[in-house]
Amino acid sequence: MARINTQSVEDRSGILEEEDHMRGMERIGMEVISISRPFASVARVTGRIAPADPAPWMPPNQAVRIAVEEPEGQRPVVRVYTIRAFDPLRSEVEIDFVIHEDDSPAMRWLKSARPGTVLPMIGPRQHFIPLPSGDRRAAIFADETAIPAVYAILMAWPGGLKGSAWIETPDRAAFDELPRPDGVDLHLILRPAGVAPGSAQNLLQAAKALPDPQTWTVWAAGERVEMRDLRNHLRKAGVARTDLQVLGYWKKGMSSSDLDRARLAEYEALRARGLTLETLGDIDLPV
Ligand SMILES: Cc1cc2nc3c(=O)[nH]c(=O)nc-3n(C[C@H](O)[C@H](O)[C@H](O)COP(=O)(O)OP(=O)(O)OC[C@H]3O[C@@H](n4cnc5c(N)ncnc54)[C@H](O)[C@@H]3O)c2cc1C
Repeated sequence: MARINTQSVEDRSGILEEEDHMRGMERIGMEVISISRPFASVARVTGRIAPADPAPWMPPNQAVRIAVEEPEGQRPVVRVYTIRAFDPLRSEVEIDFVIHEDDSPAMRWLKSARPGTVLPMIGPRQHFIPLPSGDRRAAIFADETAIPAVYAILMAWPGGLKGSAWIETPDRAAFDELPRPDGVDLHLILRPAGVAPGSAQNLLQAAKALPDPQTWTVWAAGERVEMRDLRNHLRKAGVARTDLQVLGYWKKGMSSSDLDRARLAEYEALRARGLTLETLGDIDLPV
């Protein structure tokens, strides 16, 4: 009998296949063209896709669920990554994988992937982007896993919008590669080698130093516990709920499969009450 893969998340009710969850996302394969190491902290996978319609892949900050393991008789093990760039003429996408030390499903996939490998994915899902309102400046707080999202967001930065971004990474080159649109100032928070990701609370400290917090619209993504603290701090400091988009991209010490189990349980409870995916307050889940 095949070994049980504990990273596979069961969807007994089939709720993840329903339209409220799928919302026009498609199942698609990405054929790996190349895997490069533009700098030490990142493996950049360039792949070819053949979407039914390229339009949904064009706006910045699209997320995809990639099937990094496909255990027999179980649902695939999936992980969420960002489409850093999409070239509609070549039908090519770029995904940056931040390298981390764990022997995890995504890292194992990366080690085994070669040109020609086909990666099944579901997507794209439009992820949040900074929401300018009135004359507010946009503040961005991002760790290294959110640099691909910030890259895509800055590449499409609307003229005239003012913003500031604080980026935490152990790798200066990952910061240096970011676009510098007019009106945006970028601040590098260089995490020293040997300090574990998600442990220094650097982004939280940067958020605490934000002058006149109630005058900003905020987009933040990074380690889940730090992001929840950052969100709570900014709420108390007077940032309106509608001016706050704070996302937990990963959780220190916990696999994404366990996070997905918690998300699924909450989503099932919401659906049972007749509510939809929008009402799922991900950052507030008790994980
Ligand atoms: C919307 C969204 C977009 C994302 N986009 C990207 C992206 O473009 N690039 C990217 O690299 N990541 C991105 N992430 C984060 C990525 O999904 C997680 O890092 C994921 O946990 C990686 O899966 P894994 O199989 O390697 O590790 P898991 O099996 O999920 O976790 C195993 C262990 O590794 C640790 N771990 C996971 N990620 C990291 C990390 N980055 N640093 C240190 N320890 C870690 C966990 O805490 C856990 O202890 C995104 C997440 C979301 C929700």
